[in-house]
Amino acid sequence: MDDLIVGIDLGGTKIMAAVVDAAGGIRHRTFKLTPVQDGPEAVLGAMVEAARETAAGAGVSLDDVSAIGVGSPGPLDPDAGVIICSPNLPGWDHVPMKDRIEGATGRRVFLDNDCNVATLAEHALGAGRGVGNLIGLFLGTGIGGGVVINNRLHRGFSRQAGELGHVVVDVNGPKCGCGQKGCIEALASRRVMCRKIAEALEQGRKSTLTETDPNKIRTSMLAEALARGDELVREVMTEAMSYLGIAVASIAHVVSPEMVVIGGGIVDALTDDLLDVVRTSATERALPLVMDGVKFVRAQLKEDAGVLGAAVLARQQLAG
Ligand SMILES: [Zn+2]
Repeated sequence: MDDLIVGIDLGGTKIMAAVVDAAGGIRHRTFKLTPVQDGPEAVLGAMVEAARETAAGAGVSLDDVSAIGVGSPGPLDPDAGVIICSPNLPGWDHVPMKDRIEGATGRRVFLDNDCNVATLAEHALGAGRGVGNLIGLFLGTGIGGGVVINNRLHRGFSRQAGELGHVVVDVNGPKCGCGQKGCIEALASRRVMCRKIAEALEQGRKSTLTETDPNKIRTSMLAEALARGDELVREVMTEAMSYLGIAVASIAHVVSPEMVVIGGGIVDALTDDLLDVVRTSATERALPLVMDGVKFVRAQLKEDAGVLGAAVLARQQLAG
């Protein structure tokens, strides 16, 4: 039997599971809605079902796979495999996800937060192949991140390293979901950009999105607006990317990455010139040698990043 792993990407709205081979190829994918309103037991049950179904879809059974990797919203304890709590999983309180899935499947289970596994995926199989030191920044409803140092995901003393969305870039800035002010998440997430566009539209600013319900602005619409030369969208996204660059400069002084991978829901609207805004903003604020030769790139794996990263995590942990 090939060396197969089941990767599971648990999201607040959907669960994706996939059978991943040793080369990082996906043999089969399964999608399910996350029954989040039915509580942790129902969600764990759906994850196990998704794992079984995707194994069957790949023509094997769970007994044939080496392990199960999971990327989950956090905060979580990756060693104990416990979800501590999560804004995306209301009512969850210290749920022992690893133990429960191991009990139900008989397979070893490895767990980490969604942005850490997405960073692992980009490092092993995506934009960061062959790069020993990189950071991942994922812009969606919030901003998450991950840090790879010397080819290893960095978890740190608290096991919570890589929470890059809460790097403060403006101590007098807007309030963040975490309670602090001026975190990069409160200034550059997709949600914040869409809100700023909606506010400007309400104030009568002209835009190609004028006819759009401001609550329903999607990334594809942002990309299209940019392509059509929309000044408002360009202005809002440029400001956000400039803030992101400030965060990158701070992070770079600690980590010294060779590459900055930017992904998440926003990636399809991230034009080359917006990537340049991040680079320029970071370069202006960092010691010159720190930013010399650093590459700024888009994440490549899109919706597969979660399952692939979960599989990479499991494979690395099995190998010790
Ligand atoms: Zn914060």
